[in-house]
Amino acid sequence: MGRTVLITGASRGIGRAAAELFAAERFNVVINYLHSEGEAQSLAAELSRRGCGAAALRADVADRAQVESMVQSALDTFGAIDVLVNNAGIAQQRLFTDITPAEWDRMMDVHVKGTFHCCQCVLPQMIHRKCGAIVNVSSMWGQAGASCEVHYSTAKAAVIGFTKALAKELGPSGIRVNCVAPGVIDTGMNAGLSQDDRCALIGETPLMRLGTPFDAARAIVFLASESADFITGQVLAPNGGFVI
Ligand code: NAD
Repeated sequence: MGRTVLITGASRGIGRAAAELFAAERFNVVINYLHSEGEAQSLAAELSRRGCGAAALRADVADRAQVESMVQSALDTFGAIDVLVNNAGIAQQRLFTDITPAEWDRMMDVHVKGTFHCCQCVLPQMIHRKCGAIVNVSSMWGQAGASCEVHYSTAKAAVIGFTKALAKELGPSGIRVNCVAPGVIDTGMNAGLSQDDRCALIGETPLMRLGTPFDAARAIVFLASESADFITGQVLAPNGGFVI
């Protein structure tokens, strides 16, 4: 039946680019989405036309019951999940003093609890088979901290700690856990940036451009691949040199 990858938040941006690259590697692709059903279904149809197994499954990664049902449905369709990419995410710019408790909780729920739910639901069949790879999507702001994004930076730093600890626990079970920490990537998440902000961010990036979704997705696919089979617990940073 071939190998299967489940990618959260895969209807657009970095997740969508990763879905296309995994499909090019002949993976079956489970495209998780929250709101963008049309985009997710049309991506699944496009990947199917290219001869890959593909399914679009709705779930809010912050909701345990929805994640359990998504993972069960993926296993019913494809038999196993070989690679999990925890990519779903939200961003928000707020002065620290203006962040509400509800905004703080949602940031943690999507990035940290979402990663926890997806890993716990996918892992039993990986542990049973003693193989698998997990790639979590953090951010350079989880490494360096961003002003006016304390909740986002905190959540993304937690994803790095989560990755390192889980890698140690799962190494003896033959499962690798790694993390990517992208720089500024030109996706819908950054659609609100003004032209001045874009120029300033490019100016701070040694490679003098914003990243594309494929710049980040190539790092994800590498960490999931056999080329990375002695790499676990690491943070790979496709960031153009912004944070070194
Ligand atoms: P994006 O907004 O284009 O895509 C994020 C996707 O996640 C969207 O499809 C969204 O609907 C989905 N999502 C959000 N909450 C969800 C939930 N609760 N359940 C399921 N899906 C949910 O953004 P992107 O730039 O492609 O971001 C992908 C990941 O990369 C995110 O984790 C983001 O934090 C991270 N990241 C992005 C950048 C950047 O500059 N764009 C930089 C570093 C890290």
